[in-house]
Amino acid sequence: MLIIYSLIVILSFSLIGTVLLNSYKTKRIKNQEIRLFQTANIVAETYKSNTQDIIFARTMVKTYAKQADARILVTDTNGKVLIDSYNTYIGDTLDNAEIKSSIKGESASKLYNVDTKDILQLSVPITTNNGIETKVTGIVLISASMNMVKEDMNELKSDILKVSSISLILSIILILIAANSITRPLRDLTYGVNKISSGALGYQIEKNPGGEFGQLVSTFNKMSCKLSNIEKNRKIFINNISHELRTPLTSIKALTESLSIGNTHLDTYKEYIMDIHGETERMEKMVNYLMNSIKLEDVTLELKEENIKILLENSIKLITPYAEKNGVRMNFKADHNIYAKCDYNKIKEVILNLLDNSIKYKDPKKKENYIIITIQQGKDESSIIIEDNGLGIEEKKLPYIFQRGFRALDQDHQKDKLTGHGIGLTIVKNIIDEHKWAISVESSLRIGSTFTITIPN
Ligand code: ADP
Repeated sequence: MLIIYSLIVILSFSLIGTVLLNSYKTKRIKNQEIRLFQTANIVAETYKSNTQDIIFARTMVKTYAKQADARILVTDTNGKVLIDSYNTYIGDTLDNAEIKSSIKGESASKLYNVDTKDILQLSVPITTNNGIETKVTGIVLISASMNMVKEDMNELKSDILKVSSISLILSIILILIAANSITRPLRDLTYGVNKISSGALGYQIEKNPGGEFGQLVSTFNKMSCKLSNIEKNRKIFINNISHELRTPLTSIKALTESLSIGNTHLDTYKEYIMDIHGETERMEKMVNYLMNSIKLEDVTLELKEENIKILLENSIKLITPYAEKNGVRMNFKADHNIYAKCDYNKIKEVILNLLDNSIKYKDPKKKENYIIITIQQGKDESSIIIEDNGLGIEEKKLPYIFQRGFRALDQDHQKDKLTGHGIGLTIVKNIIDEHKWAISVESSLRIGSTFTITIPN
């Protein structure tokens, strides 16, 4: 990746450098050309007016040649050199492309490369006009070395190279920093996922890089926390069940041991057998409960249009003796019938579970314990509301109460009086979800809880 980025940077700089150098060279040579043409024209004009005074003409040509840092020649119309600022070609005949053009009355110029040196050669015709026609009487030829341009270009080239190298180093450093800031959270996440898959549920990534990666990291942390809670509840659940299964097993063991010792009277036998029967029934109930919990996910529904008011009345009737026995008053408010497509028995199970919890988690410190059951019909949805003034649930525990095995009360409280396995609400939630209904809870410790089932119309 880094090599590709570096190549892109190098390529971009070479391209920009080449374009820059070429345009610089063209511009410099063009400027030189304009300047030399100006000199050639001045020489041509001055020579024209001083053809008789060859000494002045020679001095003038040499002065301009020095000024322009170039070689200036004046030839006749056959290319024969009349004046040469270097004095070497005088009397020789020149026959180059520029002279040929100027004989025809045109100015010309060309850049030559002789022995790796750039030489700009240009010519202008010397013309006279007698009022009728313009006549070429001679030619001014200038050739100048463009080595200055080459030297300047080499300097520019080395400057561009320096800037490019510094930029390349800087961009590599920046790329490394940027790449690190992208890959670091990914590395942290991979490390976190490996931690979770090796069993460290609840592992949290501490550094949050913010932005979209930050969201991913927070989601990961939430997921990890949730997994850890599920695992914790699973352990508590297994612990509770094992604990409760052990009690009847110990009783049965003790009873069978007593029976196997000595001659026991038939009535005692009968009594012990009845006790063993009672214990096995308790175990059977618990195992059924376990089976239900395992089968939680496979709820199959028999849907029919049902009168929810009647369903509630029947469920309340069934649980009223248990509520009365526990001193909990039940109040059912329903002004009208509401109908919904549902599995009658499954929803009855939901209502019984919720009512059973409201009775079980009553607040014994309160003078009066009550449950208010209401149905409400709205425009888009109907609701069943079960409100109690029981023990309530701590706010921080509310998000977990539908999780399998979760119990909101502290261990001692539960061990002493309130037995349960943290499955009831999981069953409730599963049945409600299968119906595509919704269930929510509001609760305050020592004040009470309100469970609301929402039925879309
Ligand atoms: P269980 O009652 O067997 O423990 P549930 O799944 O029915 O299991 O309930 C989970 C936990 O939610 C209970 O342990 C209890 O702490 C709390 N809870 C449920 N309903 C109520 C309620 N009406 N009032 C107070 N706490 C409740």
